[in-house]
Amino acid sequence: MFLAVVLLGVGAFGVGALMAQGRLGDASKAGMAAAGMAAGGLAGGGSADAGLALVGATVYTSPSAAPILGGVVLVRDGKITAVGDARSVTIPKGMRVLDCKGLVLTAGFWNSHLHFIEPKWQHADSLPASVLKARLDEMINRYGFTHVFELATLDLKNVLALRARIEAGQVGGPAILVAAPMVPAGGNPFYVKPLRIPEIANAQEATAYVNEQIRSGADAIKIWSSSPIGNGVVKTMPMDMAKAVVVAAHRLGKPVFAHPSSDSGVAIAVESGVDMLAHTEPFDGVAWTPEITGNMLAHKVALTPTLKLWTYEIMRQHVPAADSLVIMAMALKQLGAYAKAGGEVLFGTDVGYMADYSPTLEYVLMSKAGLSFEAILGALTTAPAKRYGKAGETGRIAVGTVADLVVLAGDPKTDVKNFSEVVYTIRKGKIIYSRKN
Ligand SMILES: [Zn+2]
Repeated sequence: MFLAVVLLGVGAFGVGALMAQGRLGDASKAGMAAAGMAAGGLAGGGSADAGLALVGATVYTSPSAAPILGGVVLVRDGKITAVGDARSVTIPKGMRVLDCKGLVLTAGFWNSHLHFIEPKWQHADSLPASVLKARLDEMINRYGFTHVFELATLDLKNVLALRARIEAGQVGGPAILVAAPMVPAGGNPFYVKPLRIPEIANAQEATAYVNEQIRSGADAIKIWSSSPIGNGVVKTMPMDMAKAVVVAAHRLGKPVFAHPSSDSGVAIAVESGVDMLAHTEPFDGVAWTPEITGNMLAHKVALTPTLKLWTYEIMRQHVPAADSLVIMAMALKQLGAYAKAGGEVLFGTDVGYMADYSPTLEYVLMSKAGLSFEAILGALTTAPAKRYGKAGETGRIAVGTVADLVVLAGDPKTDVKNFSEVVYTIRKGKIIYSRKN
């Protein structure tokens, strides 16, 4: 029901977005400007910043460390300057104190799979800041995400404009990374209609497409290593095309995501050297054997589970109840098998494609798949930070790292639903979301 609304809304948008694909030179400049601004350090208000003291919370500095009870975290100029308990950290005079007694503090979260495809994100360059802020709050900020990956934009220029406004400090929001999508000829998946993903004819064209998109500002490429094109038919990407994409993207230092759809899609993605699977594949796939997970591990493939998405697709496709139970059990089995084998999991929900923004069900389903609190926290923080080359910079609460933080109302170690109970979201030392507002 939700999706019908979304798709009706994006119908007109899709045409304009694709027309814009040919001219992305300006977007590239905007992206570079945004990167430059980020490097320059927007921080928490510059040198005049008196800083922020978060006092009294249970602090999970990383998934592997024991929590600090009654912790104190000091932030100045966007960076963490002290971490400890009340006895070991002195709060400087004049520093703003945020009382976090009874609350829980972790590093800011990453959502490695979302979309800005709803029509409300159009004209990101000119929408009033207050309007954009309310929309970012609703989908992202209120759930503690300080970093997001838009995993298949059809309007790169618009996403880069949104990023530029956030990085310029006009709108409080997350760091945004963005992937450009492509499918082989005839490979548009049925569920994106009436939108159309660029169709690429052969390996040579794929190389040119990757180069052009990355030059235009894309941070990654997303392929459909196999696509469900309707009526139960799955179209696989030729191996030489998948390999050409990976070689071209890696040459420019960018990762490749694959939407696998099926077992053959997983095999092509892994064999071609793709970095991340954008989903589990419970509709057309089997339980992942030790051979499959071993192969994924050997190729260092990361996985975004998108479990809640399958409940959404089951509803949308009117899947009979008995089949839906089999599909959900398969999704949990696939994630569980890979996590148990030691595979890297990156939290990702496909929110924005789904109009219901809450990540709570995703946490519950990850937990049901066998992931511990620590594993889920890792998928939200340390794993993506490391995967995207920012391990020294963010993803943990440590002196010298960027102050990307989340304050929760309850402890997710006792109930994973508390991952959604966000009181404050803090990015680069600035409160970008407060539940009280
Ligand atoms: Zn998606």
